[in-house]
Amino acid sequence: MKQKWIGTQIVLNHIINNSLHRNDHLKKRLATAKESLDLDALIVWPDLNKKNLDLVREICRDFKIKTYLWYPVLADVLAFKIKREQAVETFDRLHGCGKNGCWDKLGEGEEDFLFLCPNDEQNIRQIFNQYQNKIIESDFDGVFLDRIRFPSPANGFELLFSCFCQFCRKKFYTQYGEDLENYRYQAKAVFEKLKTIDISYLRTYQSFSDIFIQDNLEKFYDFRKQNIYQAVKIFADKAKQMGKLVGVDLFAPSLAPLVSQDYQLLAKTCDWIKPMIYCHTSSPAGFPLELYCFIKAILNINPALDESRLTREISRIIGVELPTRINDLLKNGISEKIICSEMQKIKEFDLPEKASIYVGIEAIQIPGLCNITEKILKKYLKSVIEADIKGIILSWDLLKIPDENLKIVGDFLSKQP
Ligand SMILES: [Zn+2]
Repeated sequence: MKQKWIGTQIVLNHIINNSLHRNDHLKKRLATAKESLDLDALIVWPDLNKKNLDLVREICRDFKIKTYLWYPVLADVLAFKIKREQAVETFDRLHGCGKNGCWDKLGEGEEDFLFLCPNDEQNIRQIFNQYQNKIIESDFDGVFLDRIRFPSPANGFELLFSCFCQFCRKKFYTQYGEDLENYRYQAKAVFEKLKTIDISYLRTYQSFSDIFIQDNLEKFYDFRKQNIYQAVKIFADKAKQMGKLVGVDLFAPSLAPLVSQDYQLLAKTCDWIKPMIYCHTSSPAGFPLELYCFIKAILNINPALDESRLTREISRIIGVELPTRINDLLKNGISEKIICSEMQKIKEFDLPEKASIYVGIEAIQIPGLCNITEKILKKYLKSVIEADIKGIILSWDLLKIPDENLKIVGDFLSKQP
């Protein structure tokens, strides 16, 4: 009997013309996925070529696989280039990326991770209109909302203290009758304080948010969570009105406060949540890169701190052992056991039952970015079983997941009692 809901993702926008059609390439991939895993859903990052969308829809219909339109909302938006000056603003008026801990490959890949402010109504309206058209054009079963957050440590530490743009100032004043400028100075003060802290200062903290949601910044960070929720709600509600299912792509619970994703609020908008528990990805949202950038930034800001002692405190905060040198984070990743502690955090959120959890784990092999072997995959699956999770999303591109990995997952799950 089938125990788990299984989905996977596919990225269509970088593929060479007609390569999906040639020799029935896509059909064969999906046939293998269906046969190995009894795949329930395919989440599709579209391209501008409607022909590919039609092909995906047709094949999935034949195989009885549900299709989702994978839609990035605030960054890397389809056919909407976000300029640096349009991206969120930090306390010292930097836009898009900061100076401390910023990922050295940011902006070099196919995605640039420049985030629009969720309060930038005019641009969001334009994206929303394109989104609506794409839902109609693709005629998929659902939507999957991605990039629904503020920038992460991979964009640089200063970005954790954003946004202070004109739209935010206006909205904040309307909502609270207070000038957001006052919070700009407080955010700067919290940042400055990090320059002189010693390790004992971190010992009392239980979560990442304790490190920077300090003094009177609670209202500011509550505002950020509401901003993300409100933007997501608009996109999700429209899809529901059109009879579509809604899934959301969220940071792992430990990291979510850094980007102002509130599980309890966002659960209200969707049918299911995919927490990205990526233990081996050296790109944004993956634990290795986000932790690396976060720790590197603090060491940069405060060079007197000792790397291994700082890492030990971060290890304590997230609840799994980390390597003492941050370079090893990128090389070896982190323990897959974190799935269990992250799932425990989700249980404590006490989310409405109707919001299913389908955990996102990597299954891809991309040289230099993420290489998921049989050994890793089995450890992931063991944790998934232990944590009793309803479903799995093999991330993040079926075209880069070896057949072998699909079979390993299928075999492992079929042997479960
Ligand atoms: Zn803003």
